[in-house]
Amino acid sequence: MRPEAAASRAEALRREIWEHRKRYYVDAAPIISDAEYDLLEKKLRDIERVHPEVVTPDSPTQRVGAEAKGELPTAAHAVPVLSLDNAGSLEEVRDWHGRLLRALGRDEVPLVAELKIDGVSVSLIYEKGSLARAVTRGDGFTGEVVTSNIRTIESVPLRLLEPVPFLEARGEVYYPVEEFAAMNRQREEAGEPPFANPRNAAAGSIRMLDPRLAAGRPLDLLFWGLVRIEGRPLPDTHSAGLALLRDLGFRANPTRRCGSLEEVEAFFQEWLQKRDGLKYEVDGCVVKVDPIGLQELAGCTARAPRWACAYKFPPRQATTRVVDIVINVTRSGALTPTAVLEPVAIGGAIISRSTLHNEDEVRRKDIRVGDRVLIERGGDVIPKVVKVILEARPEGSGPFEMPRACPVCGAAAPRPEGEVYARCVNTSCPARLRESILHFARREAMDIEGLGEALVNQLVEKGMIREIPDIYRLEEGRLADLERMGPRSARNLVERIEKSKTAPFDRLIHALGIRFVGERTAQLLAEAYPDMDGLMAASSEDLMGVHEVGPRVAEAIRQFLDQPQNRRMIEGLRAAGVAMRAARRGTRERQGPFRGLTCVVTGTIPGRSRDDVKRILQRQGARVSEAISRKTDVLIYGAEAGSKLHKARALGVRLVDAEEFLRLIGAGG
Ligand SMILES: [Zn+2]
Repeated sequence: MRPEAAASRAEALRREIWEHRKRYYVDAAPIISDAEYDLLEKKLRDIERVHPEVVTPDSPTQRVGAEAKGELPTAAHAVPVLSLDNAGSLEEVRDWHGRLLRALGRDEVPLVAELKIDGVSVSLIYEKGSLARAVTRGDGFTGEVVTSNIRTIESVPLRLLEPVPFLEARGEVYYPVEEFAAMNRQREEAGEPPFANPRNAAAGSIRMLDPRLAAGRPLDLLFWGLVRIEGRPLPDTHSAGLALLRDLGFRANPTRRCGSLEEVEAFFQEWLQKRDGLKYEVDGCVVKVDPIGLQELAGCTARAPRWACAYKFPPRQATTRVVDIVINVTRSGALTPTAVLEPVAIGGAIISRSTLHNEDEVRRKDIRVGDRVLIERGGDVIPKVVKVILEARPEGSGPFEMPRACPVCGAAAPRPEGEVYARCVNTSCPARLRESILHFARREAMDIEGLGEALVNQLVEKGMIREIPDIYRLEEGRLADLERMGPRSARNLVERIEKSKTAPFDRLIHALGIRFVGERTAQLLAEAYPDMDGLMAASSEDLMGVHEVGPRVAEAIRQFLDQPQNRRMIEGLRAAGVAMRAARRGTRERQGPFRGLTCVVTGTIPGRSRDDVKRILQRQGARVSEAISRKTDVLIYGAEAGSKLHKARALGVRLVDAEEFLRLIGAGG
């Protein structure tokens, strides 16, 4: 293709792609299949690869840019982002409405009600139809420039469907509640402090310096206002402004026009019932005057517009009593406090426990056994203690003391400086042992089906497993006598345990339970050190030479391998006959087109099961992982590919469809 032809073809494709993206994200009514859409993007990528000079910054292929250096720059808002007056009851909304009507000198005024998303406000500026800048609310007058991170949000248009010379739109960035809960679970397991709520998680994510990291976070954005536009008149009502935003490709907040306060109240009550079903956390409704002319007439006070009011939902809160504070011990030995509560109902769920996260958190809130506390449940259903009701504190209570010894085994549990958690030092602590066995047996580790929680509890209690290698000494006869077992289950279990001895080497590394070493790091380590002796002999510096292993991870591996108990465990496994090296791979097979690449597979590939595809890739020397991240090189996708495809696209991951995959591996592969 000649350069001019390439430029115009790429441009036509981009227009088409932005149009389809709007249908997908804004209208939720796509008119082509995902596969057809992918073909369009693939064509565009192909042209852009051959003719890099035709790439434009607002091309849908250009979502992830370069890292910010040092800190985020700031920018002033031409129109300040004001805060809203809050109303906690219908009475207060009536007061606001009365003041408004008096100020306007009218008997009635057209209103609009919309949901108030609990996120982070941002202002997006488009110049000549392309996204030029995104700035956080900040203090309302100056915010931080977060353009690179906002670009990574899939539903945000980089280009408007109509190239107006200038436009400023505002919206709310949010962290979906379900993903929020999942991320916090991961953070706690990795020994990192959890985020307090989805809003903090969103704020932290859009302020990250590396947009590749932000792209890995499932952020989304809903727009709630058109602030300025040039090249065409500003619509004369707020609702028409949102309609225009939708036409231009923005995902706008759903609104309802209300002629009276009764209609506002109906909208409010309706969403109060439905809010738990939303993907994002909402903390109320916003009521606004619809006609822009009347908004201007009403004007603003020093800090808030007179023409808008936030009508807050009652918080999902209740008071109850802390019956006890118990300490759980995780696999890594971290001691985590949990409040046992007198059961109480909040928003339809019975709450009887609340994680207190860590020692500092308990101290900060000064939560004591016997205290009455205010607890709150967010949209993510995880209850938390908001505060202690000091007036109701029983006499003679003392501050919570984090035990300095493990509550399960009694071993010392020091809290290293700079760390959030105190940890039990005893590697054969029954609590740690239980968690370690469960981890060892996981499908992604040694894959010993049947070694579940109830059985592991019995095995540890009866002393049948005192250390991990004991798994390989379990006898069918004794297992059969355990509760809920029987001869058949016992035989199956012993067979699976036997089979696990030949588990791939990377699974074994993962199974050891080294801090920070998940499935993927284990794969990388197994590739760099195909046998246990090599791995055990590697220094921290050597380990840091492994692709993607940083100093923190290298240090954790070294520390683990230096512990005498861990060395004993590894030797015990070796003595039991567990394979300690990677299976040799044929040289011919390692020359494949996916060699050395990290691949993810999604959707169905004709004629091949998912496991077949994985095996083929692994034989070719590829790493196969489950989730798309910035570390993914290739996504292989077949029919019915879903969210992974979208995410891969956002991250600019190379896409290979089923047909191309089968061709690359050779029809016989
Ligand atoms: Zn312990």
